[in-house]
Amino acid sequence: MSAFREVYPGVLKLTLPLPFELESVNVFLVALEDGYMLIDCGMETKPAFETLESAMAERGIAWTEIRRIFLTHMHPDHMGMSARLLELTGAELAMHEAEANHLRMVATAERRFPWLELAYTQAGVPKALEDKMDEHFLEVRKNFHNLTPDVLFVGGEEIPTAIGPLQVLWTSGHSPGHACLYSAERKILFSGDQILENITPNIAWHPGRDMLGEFLESLERLAGLEVDLILPAHGEPFSGHRAWIEQTKTHHRERCDEILALIGQSPRSAHVLVGEMWRRKLSPINHHFAIFEVLAHLEHMQRQGRVRSSEENGVLAWHP
Ligand SMILES: [Zn+2]
Ligand SMILES: [Zn+2]
Repeated sequence: MSAFREVYPGVLKLTLPLPFELESVNVFLVALEDGYMLIDCGMETKPAFETLESAMAERGIAWTEIRRIFLTHMHPDHMGMSARLLELTGAELAMHEAEANHLRMVATAERRFPWLELAYTQAGVPKALEDKMDEHFLEVRKNFHNLTPDVLFVGGEEIPTAIGPLQVLWTSGHSPGHACLYSAERKILFSGDQILENITPNIAWHPGRDMLGEFLESLERLAGLEVDLILPAHGEPFSGHRAWIEQTKTHHRERCDEILALIGQSPRSAHVLVGEMWRRKLSPINHHFAIFEVLAHLEHMQRQGRVRSSEENGVLAWHP
């Protein structure tokens, strides 16, 4: 079982297990003048809770010493355990306003995101596969709690801690109200899922928004910061955020070019594009992520005037 490790004076990192392919998620305890702030919560599973419980005991930290819980975003691996931890700690919950709105919509939806049905139909996803994706959503639903945050940020605020103020940075793209925490004084960045060492974060399409554009724009802002240490939600702390940002921008440029080349052969749906762009067989949930990733790229290119769509029986075929 993993234990808290000091990754910076005043900052403890703990790796919690996850029940899916992405094997683990990091949560951080940042010392406050009085008590701690917990950044992210891990997933609502028995192994994750027991890991956190024993790591706290080993450090001699009581639940009630956690005064604030900050969620970088509302994905199940980050907020799953939050309802339980809020009860145990009595902490105040803080997150970005846009993320809180997004969470409310997801947590109160009948089964899945209100726009999911339309997105699947337009993407040309076969019904049988849709049903399989649905099963997964029912499974993760229990991790979405309709929480009422005590503090809502819009970006730019500063959270006082024992290591100096941490600035809230709104970095939408991976999710609508994703937020990072940054110390200009210490040059450290709690990057959530915005910057991950060995993988590029998934960019999910949202109706009426250019999520890839927002993601690239937020990376641009991060590139302007001085960062010596990136503390990501998955993987080990690392440095070199500007090189990472360059690589990630190139990755998305190549993805866009790949889509253009394919639809240049003949118009295709997002579902067909996924089959061609991911050569390995994807699990239903990964197929879902891939569909939304392709839609985000198509939306981005549509706004640039590089692609357009035509509709046939509800399915969108994409043209250069
Ligand atoms: Zn995430
Ligand atoms: Zn994550």
